[in-house]
Amino acid sequence: MTNPVERQRADLDAYEDRARRGPCFVCAFASGHPDYGHHTVFEVEDHVAFLDRWPTLAGKVLVAPKRHVEYSLGSQQGNAHLHWHIAGLPPEVPHEQQFHALMAEDGVLAKGPEESVDMAARIRERIAARGGLRVL
Ligand SMILES: [Zn+2]
Repeated sequence: MTNPVERQRADLDAYEDRARRGPCFVCAFASGHPDYGHHTVFEVEDHVAFLDRWPTLAGKVLVAPKRHVEYSLGSQQGNAHLHWHIAGLPPEVPHEQQFHALMAEDGVLAKGPEESVDMAARIRERIAARGGLRVL
């Protein structure tokens, strides 16, 4: 197991290239494209929650509708699909620090594939132990 807070440099050039030239990463994931695999932690008919491929915090999850829905906040082609970043932080963390905790410019957690499998399993177990998630 790697150090749980060890960070590695994020390859932001590769990320940007993929976002500019690649397909929609959520639609590619939802259709089973082998290069866009993620670890699903929760799924209902029309939405899916999965681990962030480049986590800045342990257990950081993205939630997205399965149907392609775009928003325009300056997002690039490959990540214009509506999605939310969900990360656990203590309630007293100031807003500016919350923002920086999510930025990949400071590096991403150095996680091996087996640790992501374990993290996704632990999140699924916690959700199941709570009786699932309530969909509003
Ligand atoms: Zn999409």
